Amino acid sequence: QSPAWIRSISPYVPGKPVTELARDIGLPLESIVKLASNENPLGISPKARAAVEKAMNGIERYPDTFDLAAALASHLRVRHEQIVLGNGSNDVLDLAARVFLTTGRSAVMAQHTFVVYLLATVMTGAECIVTPAKNYGHDLAAMRAALRPDTRVVWIANPNNPTGTFLPYDDIKAFLRGVPADVAVVIDEAYNEYLPPDLRVDTVRWIDEFPNLIVTRTFSKVYGLAGLRVGYAVAAPEVADLMNRVRQPFNVNNLAAAAAIAALDDKAFVDQSHELNRRGMRQIEAGLKELGLEWIPSRGNFITFRVADAAGVNQRLLRQGVIVRPLVGYEMPQHLRVTIGLEQENERFLAALKNALNS
Ligand code: PMP
Repeated sequence: QSPAWIRSISPYVPGKPVTELARDIGLPLESIVKLASNENPLGISPKARAAVEKAMNGIERYPDTFDLAAALASHLRVRHEQIVLGNGSNDVLDLAARVFLTTGRSAVMAQHTFVVYLLATVMTGAECIVTPAKNYGHDLAAMRAALRPDTRVVWIANPNNPTGTFLPYDDIKAFLRGVPADVAVVIDEAYNEYLPPDLRVDTVRWIDEFPNLIVTRTFSKVYGLAGLRVGYAVAAPEVADLMNRVRQPFNVNNLAAAAAIAALDDKAFVDQSHELNRRGMRQIEAGLKELGLEWIPSRGNFITFRVADAAGVNQRLLRQGVIVRPLVGYEMPQHLRVTIGLEQENERFLAALKNALNS
């Protein structure tokens, strides 16, 4: 029989699959607009696509990810030994949990943040302490106050999903100064690349000063490789070594590794994605304003807005072939999260939302 904590876990619920909705409502696949999982509406960088095709030569071999770790180390100006590769960044979050948590230990996370922190924590048998949010974002003072002698991990998402809130770097640094050295602080920067350059600070530079800091990032968002599953952590060499010990061998496949290297190199695609997101965000904000809805200002590639009847509105959006994300599991039953899409997709969403509100 499995331990009680395993049975207490509610599985992760992804955005509704396009194929399932198309079948449910009897519409062709192409007519479905999926804005539910913060994917890149531009798709994949042409350079990454070419790299995947090329990497098919050699697919009979087990993955060799040395080059990807080397490319990341060079891109981030850190040592190769500081990189931990993951099957998506979810995987490296899980590795951090497995290295530092077990029964009798605890982790601290904020309310209204990414649910995988809770899953990764509970799976180890550790307890998860959830602190109340402040203006839908992390309350670092409350998180600091919640630390217990048995706390070994703090989870911080910056920008946060699903609220899009952003913590000033000075506040995070002050937080790091106040946390005991035996507590690993994981800063999940899945949406880091969407920050405007003047807001972005290179947190990996702080690892020398704070060897308990783990920064995680992903190729799933701005790089458009969500389906290939590749993410990474940057940590002090000793921490990265521990994470690599518990990592499954070959957790990043050949195609993903090749695509990630090429994507990292395609700055034009990243800039284009960034710009599309900036314009799309303005478009959706303007549309929400016109509909008289409130939203939480977001630094990600998505926006979370308030509707009294979120469940009903979500159903009426689905019937029109538009998939957004209900936030019931995030204790936000009166909010929906929409990913910024292509201009026409955003338009479809806003028109469908208008219908959904009026019917
Ligand atoms: N962290 C945050 C905050 C996220 O929103 C996501 C994706 N929803 C992830 C991590 C995981 O992404 P992936 O496993 O695709 O890298």
